[in-house]
Amino acid sequence: MSPPVTGVIQDLERVLLTPAQISVRISEMAARLNAELAGKVVTVVALMDGALFFVADLLRQLEMPVRMHTLSASSYQGGTATTGEVKVNWPAGVDLRDQDVLLLDDILDTGLTLSVISERIRVQQPASLRTCVLLSKRRERLREVPLKDAGFEIDDEFVVGYGMDYQGRFRNLPCIGILNPGQPS
Ligand code: 5GP
Ligand code: MG
Repeated sequence: MSPPVTGVIQDLERVLLTPAQISVRISEMAARLNAELAGKVVTVVALMDGALFFVADLLRQLEMPVRMHTLSASSYQGGTATTGEVKVNWPAGVDLRDQDVLLLDDILDTGLTLSVISERIRVQQPASLRTCVLLSKRRERLREVPLKDAGFEIDDEFVVGYGMDYQGRFRNLPCIGILNPGQPS
């Protein structure tokens, strides 16, 4: 059963993806990962905070042994347009050498964040690196990111909900949507 859609939902201009649509798609993504990564021990590198719910829902459907590290990266600093600079908070003691790494993020936009993080993973010489996002925006990338799995392709609009924020708010929406214009900044 889907959680009730209440509270801050009135701040949305429209719902793009319902909790049920998100849930069905994540199960499909998990099934593909279970088939293609069967027999491996997977080391997940999850980008917080935006991918929090995606990671929680996807990982609970993975059947292989999984390790997880969380990183935080930001290029937005609270607004809706990227600043072009990616700050990564890389925890000490993460060693990805010879690991089968699954990099998870909420949304691929300009590609800057995932390209910076992929590069930092690659220099550690993992056995493999697979990148998977819930949403991929249809737009020109500033950096190309080799993407194996994307849950949904969406138009180039600013979305919130299901972990994704605007000015720190709206992460708790169970759906993904577009905000009403005129939100306080
Ligand atoms: P990129 O580096 O690809 O431009 O941006 C990736 C990051 O920017 C994502 O991980 C996400 O945190 C943030 N981002 C990009 N587009 C959106 C959006 O439409 N809504 C929200 N809330 N965050 C976004
Ligand atoms: Mg993010």
